[in-house]
Amino acid sequence: MQIKKNDVYTIEITDTGTQGEGIGRADGCALFVKDALIGDVVQVKIMKVKKTYAYAKLEKVLSPSPFRVAPRCAYSRQCGGCQLQALSYEQQLRFKEGKIRNHLIRLGGLEPAAVDAAREPIIGMEEPWRYRNKAQFPFGTSKDGRVITGFYAGRTHTIIENTDCVLGVEENREILERILAHMGKYHISAYDETEGTGLVRHALIRKGFVSGQIMVCLVLNGDALPKEEELADSLWQIPGMASLSVNVNRERTNVILGRSLRVLRGNGWIEDSIDGITFRISPLSFYQVNPIQTGKLYGQALEYASLQGEETVWDLYCGIGTISLFLARKARRVYGVEVIEEAVLDAQENAKRNDIQNAEFFVGRAEEVLPKKYEEEGIRADVIVVDPPRKGCDEKCLETMVRMQPERIVYVSCDSATLARDLKYLAEYGYELKKWRGCDMFPETVHVETVVKLERK
Ligand code: SAH
Repeated sequence: MQIKKNDVYTIEITDTGTQGEGIGRADGCALFVKDALIGDVVQVKIMKVKKTYAYAKLEKVLSPSPFRVAPRCAYSRQCGGCQLQALSYEQQLRFKEGKIRNHLIRLGGLEPAAVDAAREPIIGMEEPWRYRNKAQFPFGTSKDGRVITGFYAGRTHTIIENTDCVLGVEENREILERILAHMGKYHISAYDETEGTGLVRHALIRKGFVSGQIMVCLVLNGDALPKEEELADSLWQIPGMASLSVNVNRERTNVILGRSLRVLRGNGWIEDSIDGITFRISPLSFYQVNPIQTGKLYGQALEYASLQGEETVWDLYCGIGTISLFLARKARRVYGVEVIEEAVLDAQENAKRNDIQNAEFFVGRAEEVLPKKYEEEGIRADVIVVDPPRKGCDEKCLETMVRMQPERIVYVSCDSATLARDLKYLAEYGYELKKWRGCDMFPETVHVETVVKLERK
């Protein structure tokens, strides 16, 4: 290969990579260029050469892409949160659908014609801003010794000071400023990752979009915060404040939340509802971050489940039972499985408060609970819905699903690469791709949710 470090090229960006970077070619080699957009003509400098590709740095945009738009956030290039703010929303949707399609073909081993025939158009948002109901803000100390909060810069843990992320709710700013003021007043330190010292690690803020209720959970490297009651009084001046709790995490880890939780004021949970079903959400439980799209996603999953009313349905990786309760309205019986105990307690409570009696929840790993319930208790499945975390399903789980021979499998995924890998396995055992659809739960970022309908041949 001829390309060398520090060479300068003028190239056209012709594609978007999975991390949102621009891709072009020079001397027969693919170049990955951060912050360059499909349609740009750019001058780049080669930084790192690999066997068949190279990384290059954007030096100058010579002719901007027709898809370029002005980012809404001043920190969008440094911050690790949004990778696509400079790309028009239409083009973001096209990129995401293309990414899913590529994964299904390249990693899923599916025929392009079959993938295209099964595609339904991606579900986008009308207003792709301020859609997140949850944010986790890290605390740190600036070079000049001030306590700060904001977001991590891409791929590092340097904090970019910003209390008003344009993806989050407007209340975040007021909440964070009150916490910072309290810390300043009582000289409370922020956590220092390299030393393992300091007190305040993160603030987790969640708001119910329908209920308007707000929950704040402070993650501490210690048991308590000085003058907790005074902070609670201050936060309670913000309309909607419903819960303030402290989570203790003394580990030297990137994992944000520890296991123990102490409620300072309010219930320790908030409520929200989707399509008329009300949910209780605890700080440690998973809840989808984009409530506007969640209703559409669940509606699609329900449609793909094609329930007639007599089915036995499993909802694996069920969280607080959201999808389960949607399914329960149309099925004979629903079984949910979830590994976080607090989430299962929420799920049971949620079934009760919505007067849903045909849903039952089990704590444990899907790959352990499902085989056990099938082999020891003979519980069958007409339809199985799965919604695993990014790493996808454990093979033991897939193997049991196949043995249970459900008529349909609905796969909800937040990572189309692991989805495609799992679909390949399921296809080998006779499950055919019938429909798939992207749902944009995370506008301005490279992430996308996918719902898939599979049928037994
Ligand atoms: N369906 C839910 C939750 C999806 S997120 C919703 O839409 O809200 C994935 C969930 O899987 C999380 O709640 C996580 O705690 C849980 N989980 C992760 N690994 C698991 C496993 N091996 N078995 C069961 N649940 C698991």
